[in-house]
Amino acid sequence: MIYLENEFWKKLNSYKNISKSQWEDWKWQIANRLVSLEDLKIFFNLSESLKNAFLKTANIYHFGTTPYYFSLIKEYSFDDPVFRQIFPSLEEIDKNIQKGSYLDPFNEEKLSPVKGLTHRYPDRVLFRATNFCSVYCRHCMRKRMFLEEERARRKEEYDAMFSYIRQNKNIKEVLISGGDPLTLPNKKIEYIIKNLYEIKHIDIIRIGSRELVCNPYRFFDEELLEIFDKYDKVWIVSHFNHPNEITNITKKAVKNILSTGTPVLNQTVLMKGINDDKYIMENLMRDLLKVKIKPYYLFYADPVEGTLHFRTDIKKGIEIIEHLRGRVSGLATPIYAVDLENGLGKVPVFPNYVVEEKEDYIIFRNYEGEIVKQAK
Ligand SMILES: *Cc1c(COP(=O)(O)O)cnc(C)c1O
Ligand code: SF4
Repeated sequence: MIYLENEFWKKLNSYKNISKSQWEDWKWQIANRLVSLEDLKIFFNLSESLKNAFLKTANIYHFGTTPYYFSLIKEYSFDDPVFRQIFPSLEEIDKNIQKGSYLDPFNEEKLSPVKGLTHRYPDRVLFRATNFCSVYCRHCMRKRMFLEEERARRKEEYDAMFSYIRQNKNIKEVLISGGDPLTLPNKKIEYIIKNLYEIKHIDIIRIGSRELVCNPYRFFDEELLEIFDKYDKVWIVSHFNHPNEITNITKKAVKNILSTGTPVLNQTVLMKGINDDKYIMENLMRDLLKVKIKPYYLFYADPVEGTLHFRTDIKKGIEIIEHLRGRVSGLATPIYAVDLENGLGKVPVFPNYVVEEKEDYIIFRNYEGEIVKQAK
């Protein structure tokens, strides 16, 4: 776990003269996002090749980060896992590298009965509340929204989404996603949650957000915590990809969320050059548990246009899960899953521990590779 040295905000302070209380205000973090080359030049000297990559790529897929997330960078190069997740690279717009990718591989727009809503499984719907994020991740599976205008949906659009959910009693769970729904003002968040909460057949309101990673001060906002407490159907699913993203601030933020009775889970995307390594992944899963976040999914990277350079071999994830099994707490082991193209759903992929099955016995392999025969 990283303890922020405040080194970074001292540097920022010498340019912007900010106070600690400003730094710790989630709204300040969003209002003061770094979005341009000029903003970046304050912190480091950009090489010609970095400048070139930025200029060619960022006008297609925009750049943006909170100062907090930027402060987690240790080295200003693509070797750094945080830098690599936010800095525009030429690979994103290289037609050869991006061959075979799609803007919307899961037909989220086509499987949309009402604008903003995707109904793929019988009992769950995906509710896209906004297309704004406080940090734009280079690997985003909804990178198509980078090409649209940055905005939250209008009230009338939300109302049409509620009305569809109200009429479909099979729906038990609503997954609020985006963009990042927790970048919205509290009033708007409460409007969405309250309306969903009041639908009797909705048991779970799952919020997918990266604010815990990119702007953990969001969860120091008493008003937001009261909303979680009051509408007690809320679960939070976060998106940590590397141990460098977990800090002492994360721990405090999670504690605040848990104090409202809201569980916190995580989904990680397996990515080349960021976390395609069993030891990094082991540390990530251990560190998540230490701050009381339960690893839920490890996703194989999706074939989304502009992100294919992050994709690994599908076997890499199986190798990682095999490594975790038996060596790391079962609590720390996520489900490895592949999202099938054309909106056919997510499938879990497990290492195979059954070597052979006969009429009266099964031969298993344990985590150390030992072979065990057991009667049925
Ligand atoms: C991922 C996803 C869900 C949720 O799936 P879980 O396995 O319950 O996490 C629901 N709807 C859509 C469209 C999804 O992409
Ligand atoms: S925060 Fe989530 S939705 Fe926003 S860019 Fe990152 S991955 Fe995409």
